[in-house]
Amino acid sequence: MRKEYDAIVVGAGPGGSVAARELARQGFSVLLLEKRERVGYPVRCGEASTTFADLQNFGPIPDECIESNINGLFVYGPQGTEIDYYKKDVGVMLNREKFDPCLAELAKKDGAELLTFARASALSDVENGFRTVTVVTASGTENVKARVVIAADGVESLIGRMAKIPSGQKPGFSCCGVDIKVEGILTNPEYLTFWQGHDWINDGYIWSFPKVRSNTTNFGAGFLIPKTEGPSILEVTMDWLNRLFPNAKILGTVGGVIPVSGNLEHYVADSLALVGDAAHHTNPLTGGGISAAMRAGRHAAKIIGEGLRTNNLSKEFLLQYETLVEEDFGKSHRKQLKFRRFLLEQNKEDQVNTYHFLNAALGKNGKKLDLLIHPMRSLKVIRDYIKFK
Ligand SMILES: Cc1cc2nc3c(=O)[nH]c(=O)nc-3n(C[C@H](O)[C@H](O)[C@H](O)COP(=O)(O)OP(=O)(O)OC[C@H]3O[C@@H](n4cnc5c(N)ncnc54)[C@H](O)[C@@H]3O)c2cc1C
Repeated sequence: MRKEYDAIVVGAGPGGSVAARELARQGFSVLLLEKRERVGYPVRCGEASTTFADLQNFGPIPDECIESNINGLFVYGPQGTEIDYYKKDVGVMLNREKFDPCLAELAKKDGAELLTFARASALSDVENGFRTVTVVTASGTENVKARVVIAADGVESLIGRMAKIPSGQKPGFSCCGVDIKVEGILTNPEYLTFWQGHDWINDGYIWSFPKVRSNTTNFGAGFLIPKTEGPSILEVTMDWLNRLFPNAKILGTVGGVIPVSGNLEHYVADSLALVGDAAHHTNPLTGGGISAAMRAGRHAAKIIGEGLRTNNLSKEFLLQYETLVEEDFGKSHRKQLKFRRFLLEQNKEDQVNTYHFLNAALGKNGKKLDLLIHPMRSLKVIRDYIKFK
């Protein structure tokens, strides 16, 4: 580890590794810090992500990182409603134990210095054009200077908070997730399967995501926090697993927090940018954040690269990064947030109508004619959604 770098990236998740690689590719000196001993392990994720073609934009991604191709979504909604949405190659199931190290290796190959078991424990204000990051490693504590720091340190984002950006998680705007790895394929291997709108999971959902290559399923649940009454999320997930698949063999359980607030209002400061979960870039409807983190990492590196070349890393300059993110997925995440709030604030009868409407409009076996056969139902859903603020 040197004493000084152009950029320090904190966190070798998908966001941090992509940002580090893109900056190194532009010829800058980059230190990528990862507090865990092994990049990508333990996996705390359902591992569903964007299409193979999308991922290759950040590759090359070897086949072994891909568990299966996904061709649709099946949702079991309230009171027997269903949505069977077929779309060929809509996404993939990843193996993040392989995928995350692959991204970090690509960053290394392109010139970034990767240090694992290295935790950023403090961040200074900007002094003479540099920020100082305190790095704790097995061999001691060192202060390292950088012209810019990228905080890709995930949902906890200590670094964001040290820079006085309100990156912490707030009740009602974050989700608690549990993922149980189960042996065998539990549901349609081509589909992501969900249960939503049932009793205790009304404000969240249960998922069953098939990993065909390793013949396992990620079976999990996400709830909005806090849940003031009723069983814990682990109890609910176990209860659903036991009821649906009583003989399932459990291989392991992980849990974590998912930011579902929509992007933070601002996530840059002088010589600092937040990327991925740290900036709440996760999709507020699905809780998916892998692809958003990578895209944000690329956008951040583009603007920071320009800033390093022109010696302007002011907050005002770095706001251009927020603009790129806004154009890329910020607007669509706001729409998804609106839809989630709309669905969760509906009473059961209206929710059921919304499910019927969505299945008719999007479902593989849904009949678009149903939209006309039940015009009042369709109109009510559309009108309620437009009016919903
Ligand atoms: C239960 C669960 C299920 C999920 N399922 C899905 C899914 O199916 N699909 C999907 O797209 N998303 C899913 N997500 C969300 C997804 O995991 C995140 O959105 C994604 O990992 C964000 O990437 P990131 O690079 O921003 O952060 P992370 O992947 O969290 O990486 C941050 C890294 O920073 C490191 N770090 C933190 N602090 C420091 C420090 N001080 N110093 C050094 N290193 C540090 C961490 O160890 C970590 O490796 C799920 C999340 C949970 C909890």
